Amino acid sequence: MSHGELFLQGTYLIASILFVMGLRSLSHPDTARRGMIMAAAGMAAAVIGTLFHPDIHNYLYIAIGLILGSAIGIPMAMVPMTAMPQRTALSHAFGALAASMVGIAEYVIHGSSLGTVKLGALGLEVMLGSLTVTGSLIAASKLQELMRGTPIQFKGQQIVNLCLFLTMVTFFVLWLVNPDKAVFFYTMAGCAFVFGVLLVIPIGSADMPVVMSLLNSYAGLSSAATGFVLSNNVLIIAGTLDGFSGFILSILMCKAMNRSITNVLFGGFGAVTAADSAAAGSMREVTLDDVAVQLAYANQVVFVPGYGMATAQAQHAVRELGNLLEERGVSVKYGIHPVAGRMPGHMNVLLAEANVPYSSLYEMDQINPELPATDVAVVIGANDVVNPDARDNPKSPIAGMPIIEVDRAKSVVVLKRGKGKGFSGLENPLFFKPVTGMLYGDAKASLTNLTQAVQRV
Ligand code: NAP
Repeated sequence: MSHGELFLQGTYLIASILFVMGLRSLSHPDTARRGMIMAAAGMAAAVIGTLFHPDIHNYLYIAIGLILGSAIGIPMAMVPMTAMPQRTALSHAFGALAASMVGIAEYVIHGSSLGTVKLGALGLEVMLGSLTVTGSLIAASKLQELMRGTPIQFKGQQIVNLCLFLTMVTFFVLWLVNPDKAVFFYTMAGCAFVFGVLLVIPIGSADMPVVMSLLNSYAGLSSAATGFVLSNNVLIIAGTLDGFSGFILSILMCKAMNRSITNVLFGGFGAVTAADSAAAGSMREVTLDDVAVQLAYANQVVFVPGYGMATAQAQHAVRELGNLLEERGVSVKYGIHPVAGRMPGHMNVLLAEANVPYSSLYEMDQINPELPATDVAVVIGANDVVNPDARDNPKSPIAGMPIIEVDRAKSVVVLKRGKGKGFSGLENPLFFKPVTGMLYGDAKASLTNLTQAVQRV
């Protein structure tokens, strides 16, 4: 092995170790930041190593790519936390586009001389990559509200999807048998592009994070296939890690919503309204001073944050109120639902940013038994994750989804701006229960005002 080759494989080995360690560290909020740094360092090592690849003779296009990539990547990283899901979808689209383009280029350069095994990997790479490109672009457009977020459905949709899928696979097999027939290859790629669109349009925005992690998984597997074609170890390892972690994450999210992957992909969640919902009557509005007194004299307060806390950027304001209550001897806990917000760990990241200690964060299963003994449960811009219909109404589209059972607390205060629905688009009977008081307004403003009001009590 030449020195150059040794250096290349050495950096790939270091990169692979950093990816594995980074992924491992992401499993706990304490070490997650370190995990991200390790993964980024791994990627830097892989890029640097590749720059010394003996097949590279001209650095001009690489330099242009690096400059363009950085020029696009830096502003993309600056988007607010609330736009992170659509930003991630765009990253998947770019990654998958790169994998598809490499696959197509390899086929154009080497044609059938690659042999059946490599051609098989290349076909999978282009197929998964292409459907991920369009699927991720649709996901990003739905999340950014550039197109309708609710499911787009038409008669016979699943039959059309199935026929297209079978056509795509048929052309893949036909091409493998006749690898010189480029028309089979490009028809397969064309079908995959259209399939990506059809796969994602019937899925509602509320299920988009699950779909995205599934697309992430496809993009990863596509990169792993690229690794086989290019005989590139780090691509195989990183792609496989990405592929399987994305798949496991999709399953975990589905579990947290008590739904199956097939139900997410074919269920059209968000298109229906709940039957037999107890969401009727009038909501009881409470004043700031009422809530301040309740909080100030409580033994235990549980904050339950949701997407509204993220949009309001209210994490610092809630920590200040929490600190003040603790100084007054109130026991303060934070109940975190696994799918609160718009991405896994969304609430943990925001609260960690505001220096809320991890020991105060309670997972859903830990906080639920505490709620009957809780004096005030403060819901901060959460809606679906505290919707009792999921528990009580078998006809609800979210029936069976585990919730944080704030309605079992002695008193509930909901901080939200108005009568806006949650991401599922469903009405929430919690807001109509006698135990619940609504404190309207932007969550950050309400929390800041509450802190001042508690100081006056
Ligand atoms: P949610 O159901 O989307 O509800 C958010 C609520 O926040 C809205 O009802 C809105 O009401 C309120 N709000 C918005 N901006 C606000 C502001 N500035 N101040 C105060 N309130 C504000 O949120 P969630 O309870 O966190 O539920 C998350 C949803 O995403 C679930 O449906 C879940 O299944 C889905 N999902 C999440 C993930 C994930 O990984 N986290 C994955 C898959 C699906 P107003 O408009 O009246 O203010």
